[in-house]
Amino acid sequence: MTTWDHGAHHDQEEEQVQVPICDLRPFRLPMRRRFRGTTERQGVLLRGPAGWGEFSPFPEYGPAYAARWLLAAQEAASEPFPPPRRAWVPVNVTVPAVDAATAYRLVRESGCATAKVKVAESGQDLADDVERVAAVRDALGPDGAVRVDANAAWDVETAVLAIARLDVAAQGLEYVEQPCRTLAELGEVRRRVTVPLAADESVRTADDPLRIAGLDAADVVVVKVQPLGGVRRALEVIDAAGLPVVVSSALESSVGLAAGVALAAALEHLPHACGLGTAAMFVGDVTPTPLTPVGGQVEVRRVEPDAALLDQQAPDPDTADELLTRMGLAAAELEGR
Ligand SMILES: [Mg+2]
Repeated sequence: MTTWDHGAHHDQEEEQVQVPICDLRPFRLPMRRRFRGTTERQGVLLRGPAGWGEFSPFPEYGPAYAARWLLAAQEAASEPFPPPRRAWVPVNVTVPAVDAATAYRLVRESGCATAKVKVAESGQDLADDVERVAAVRDALGPDGAVRVDANAAWDVETAVLAIARLDVAAQGLEYVEQPCRTLAELGEVRRRVTVPLAADESVRTADDPLRIAGLDAADVVVVKVQPLGGVRRALEVIDAAGLPVVVSSALESSVGLAAGVALAAALEHLPHACGLGTAAMFVGDVTPTPLTPVGGQVEVRRVEPDAALLDQQAPDPDTADELLTRMGLAAAELEGR
């Protein structure tokens, strides 16, 4: 890692604009709406012999966890992704906790056949969720798939009641994502409802999907490339867990998103639309041709950042130094293993 250029300190001269000349490029991307208490995503793009990778752990993560995110970035930069089994990956539109009319419009505009609807938002009640979910079903028509995501907000009793109501409003839910916090709670809910459950927040490490399968705590696992340490590690984890998978992004730029798309493309079975339509959540990107969904699908391809856009998306020098320091700490963590 230490042999790579410190991209943040290069001059931005005219003749350098055509080709990216720096091997480490800190970036920041503003988001269209607040998410996880932030309005932008930050990270470092790094280039190696195989192309570009992305290191963008969320700010609260320490070096030990961020090290896995770095492994994913290094993999993308140093070797080709596994061979794809498909050229396009179907994705869901994400419907935030908005009013029913807005939810309807978002789904219609997306062109997606699957919608993931946020429910159990604080400050709202089940009636709001029911209305939103019914509007989403209207927008999709009978052939679309409606899934809801409670982000671990419910206790078991609340989950059982809410899932029954929402299943009716949706005229059949595809699945419910992370209704409760713990795996024990997920298992209990799963024994009391007929709607399939997906585990998302419960998947942070490679061991988690195995535990979920062993505990019969969910029917589907949501898998993200960076937290699992790369596409190949994720494939091993998925094989071992033996459960259907929904590949989701960690809200990356299109460079990082390409790794998630590569994972989804490499899977033999892909029964559900993936959570990889997130390029649409950013105001800009590091490429003029981002991996935004077209007709509800994302194209399987690698992404090269554009030098001029990288300059535009460069954070202030202090933030850039901070990001490179975080990356250095994660690298030191890997070396110490
Ligand atoms: Mg989720």
